[in-house]
Amino acid sequence: MIISMRLHATKQEIDHVCERIAEFGFRVHSIEGAERVVIGVVGVGGDVTACLESLEATPGVERAVRISAQYKFVSKEFRQERTVIRAGKAEIGGDQFVMMAGPCSVENEKQIMETAYAVAEAGAKVLRGGAFKPRTSPYDFQGMEGDGLKLLAKAREATGLAVITEVMSDSDVSLVAEYADVMQVGARNMQNFALLKSLGRCGRPVMLKRGLSSTIKELLMSAEYIVAHGNSQVMLCERGIRTFETATRNTCDITAVPVLNELTHLPVILDPSHATGKRSLVPALAKAGVAIGADGMIVEVHPCPEKAVSDGAQSLTIDGFRGMMRDLKGYIELWTRERASELALA
Ligand code: PEP
Ligand code: MN
Repeated sequence: MIISMRLHATKQEIDHVCERIAEFGFRVHSIEGAERVVIGVVGVGGDVTACLESLEATPGVERAVRISAQYKFVSKEFRQERTVIRAGKAEIGGDQFVMMAGPCSVENEKQIMETAYAVAEAGAKVLRGGAFKPRTSPYDFQGMEGDGLKLLAKAREATGLAVITEVMSDSDVSLVAEYADVMQVGARNMQNFALLKSLGRCGRPVMLKRGLSSTIKELLMSAEYIVAHGNSQVMLCERGIRTFETATRNTCDITAVPVLNELTHLPVILDPSHATGKRSLVPALAKAGVAIGADGMIVEVHPCPEKAVSDGAQSLTIDGFRGMMRDLKGYIELWTRERASELALA
C-alpha cells in the first residue's frame, strides 16, 4: 500500500497514520517527500481492504492505494518523480546524460590510469573496471580483487572520476563498498538474493544488470529486494539477453529502456558493449541508447584491446571512444533539451 498525505499534512497527522498502520498489523517501510509525504507500507497478514478504508477516513490522508505490481517501491505507482543517484560528481537520473567507461577488467596500474585519464578527458564521469570478475571458465582471469580496487581508488584520486566496480558475493560487499562509488551487480548475479539483501545495507548506490535470461519483471523484482532491504539508490542496466541470434554476443532488448521508464522511477543504463560483443557495433547502439531515453551508458574501453585479458573484442580503443563521444554529442544535446522540458513540466 501507499498512503499519500495531503499537501502540508502535519507531523501529528503523519504519526497518527503510522500508528494506525501498525494497529492493522502492517509496517511502515518508508516515508518520502517533503511537502507531500508518501508513506510506503509493507507486511503480510493484515486486512488490506479494511486498512485502506480506515486510512482514507483518517485526517491528513489524501489517498490510500493498494499497489498492484508485485514490485512496490521501485514502481512508478509508488513514486512519480525520477530517482536521482549521486556518484562522485555525477548525478544519474537527473538532467545530465552520464557516460561510464573503462576496461572490462582492471589489469595493472598503467592500463587503468591511462584509460581513466583518457575517458575523463573525452567526457566520461564514471570509471568502470572489474576487480572481481565473473568468468564463464574457472581457468580464465578472475580479477585482481583487492589490488584492483586499490588501483581504481588511485585512478579516482587522479582524475576525479567516480568508480563503478562489480561485487560478486555478499562476503565481499563491505570490502568493495570501501572503494566503489557504485556497486555493480553482474548479469550472472541478478538473482543472487543473499547478495541483493546485503547490498540493501551497503550504503552505496547499486547498478543492477539484467540477467542473461531474465524478464523485465524479474529485473524489477531483484531491484525491489535491494530497496526493500534499505537501499533506494538503485539503477538498472540493460546489457542484452540470450536469444537464438548468434550474430551478436547477446541481443539488445532496446525496448527495455522505454518499458522500464514506464514501469519504474529508477534510472536506466544501457551497456552496448556486452549487448553486442563487437567493437564495430557499439557506437551505433550507443546512439540508439541516447535517443531512446536511457539515463546513461556503460562502455568498455581499453588502451590496447588486442591485449585485454577479458572482452577485448567488444572494447573500444581510446581513439574509438573519443570518436564515439564526438558522434554522440548532438544526440546528447537533444537528450538534455528533452529532459529539461520534462523536468520543467513536472
Ligand atoms: C562486465 O560488466 O564486465 C560484465 C561481466 O558484465 P555482465 O555481468 O553484464 O556480463
Ligand atoms: Mn566485460
